[in-house]
Amino acid sequence: MALVKLTDTTLRDAHQSLIATRMRTRDMLPIAEKMDDVGFFSLEVWGGATFDSSIRYLNEDPWDRLRALKKAITKTPLQMLLRGQNLVGYRHYSDDIVVKFVEHAAESGIDIFRIFDAVNDIRNMEVSIKTAKRVGAHVQGTVCYTISPVHPIPLYVKMAKELEEMGCDSLCIKDMAGLISPQNAYDLVRALKEEISIPVDLHSHCTSGMAPMSYLYACQAGIDVLDTAFSPFAWGTSQPPTETMVAALRGTPYDTGLDLILLTEIKKYFEDMKEKYRSILDPISERIDTNVLKYQIPGGMLSNLVSQLKEQNALDKYEAVLAEMPRVREELGYPPLVTPTSQIVGTQAVLNVLMGERYKVIPKEVKDYVKGLYGRTPAPVSKEIVEKVLGKEKPITCRPADLLPPELDKVTKEALALGIVKKPEDILTYALYPAIAPKFLRGEAKEETLEAPKPNNGRSVEPLPTEFKVEVDGDLFNVKIISAGGALSVRSAETERPKVMDGAITASMQGMVLKIKVKKGDQVSKGDAVIVLEAMKMENNIHAPHGGAVKDIFVKEGGTVSAGDVLMVVG
Ligand code: MN
Repeated sequence: MALVKLTDTTLRDAHQSLIATRMRTRDMLPIAEKMDDVGFFSLEVWGGATFDSSIRYLNEDPWDRLRALKKAITKTPLQMLLRGQNLVGYRHYSDDIVVKFVEHAAESGIDIFRIFDAVNDIRNMEVSIKTAKRVGAHVQGTVCYTISPVHPIPLYVKMAKELEEMGCDSLCIKDMAGLISPQNAYDLVRALKEEISIPVDLHSHCTSGMAPMSYLYACQAGIDVLDTAFSPFAWGTSQPPTETMVAALRGTPYDTGLDLILLTEIKKYFEDMKEKYRSILDPISERIDTNVLKYQIPGGMLSNLVSQLKEQNALDKYEAVLAEMPRVREELGYPPLVTPTSQIVGTQAVLNVLMGERYKVIPKEVKDYVKGLYGRTPAPVSKEIVEKVLGKEKPITCRPADLLPPELDKVTKEALALGIVKKPEDILTYALYPAIAPKFLRGEAKEETLEAPKPNNGRSVEPLPTEFKVEVDGDLFNVKIISAGGALSVRSAETERPKVMDGAITASMQGMVLKIKVKKGDQVSKGDAVIVLEAMKMENNIHAPHGGAVKDIFVKEGGTVSAGDVLMVVG
């Protein structure tokens, strides 16, 4: 009897999908040993957004979390999700960084590397797969599942065969948005099982409500492993519930053989945890939404999108953004929507709606994507967008990382010069998150609270020492002066709409000042990029709307600004 095995995702994907990856290590450790006793195929505990969230919001070292879990979990393989050449960041890293990261992750406790590429370009997975194989880890090659006119079943089978030939130990069908229907699951798993001999895992989300049924059909087609989460952190945009799948498959040829009594004990623990995190659980991520079949937004992205729109004070634009998403996706050649392509498509859709004009603002990441720097797109990007983004430039056709010179020495020197290296992996943390890692590694980051409202998605906001009203030409303005790292904000008291001061350059969206490219006294021309603003995890250039001398700069690198804040005055 072929037992079906389960990978439990509660400590990674499940809380990423429902509570924006905010579960603390101290809330995982008390239950870790019990989870180890269940007999899961693996426990997914790391990767995806855990790295970013840990240092950005939780003041936690993700490497420490991994080592602590490894110490507590001694029998069950620990699994991580790795974005191929993107690792756990948002861009492609040079090969030497990829090698170092995979080696260090394996050393720190990862047994199974689930490796994927957002556009299913195997060239982006080669180096991480080879490295993980070399260090003796189990490699789970992954195909990102999506529905589009350019994604027929034979395409997935071809990719799966290539992954098997590269030495992958198992294969994952990564249905990150919960799109796969029972019949599609049956057909795909059947086709794969006929052509490859390594075990096949199905990873899905309940967003459309179909996942538990698709899992059952996948069983009938011969699936080997299913991804589930403990019921308090299941359903909605998360995985199907572990206990439910165990109960449903009992006594069938697909019996998991797992102990329902032990699972129920663990479930009780996570029920308490869910209450603890209730304040950050967005009801939207808990509801069944068949619209996802149209918009194709993965679980994690949906809850992130909601907080991004809240951040921009534009939650009323939610439906409009959802409608814009498939349009952008088609124009960009039907990428599967998973990090980082979900951010690329999602952010462009958000900007197209918020700016009131499509492609008025194009983040660097979207430009890079169109240029081919994220790999071969499933279908060509629309000609109009290529022209708009690249002009006369031609997209690249080689493996993107072939264009990246080694970076490890350079970032090591930088990190050492900053005085932030206490242990070897600090260099990797800095390499992946150069903007936020220094503050964290210096011990200056603070853990966000669970109770307080989070207008800035948990980012710390500078205090406002002064706020007063000024009358100019009969218009009443609220003037806020924020001393350190903040911005001078001028708004009409009546409309709360930003008023344009003479020569003022304002922030078009809420975000963090990543780089100031000019200094006081510099001459700038119309259209020059003067500031790089990190908003919605993308780098956005703020251009000078007119030329002149930089008279004043009101922000500092690392400071947070709101839409409408005056960044500098040029005139
Ligand atoms: Mn997922």
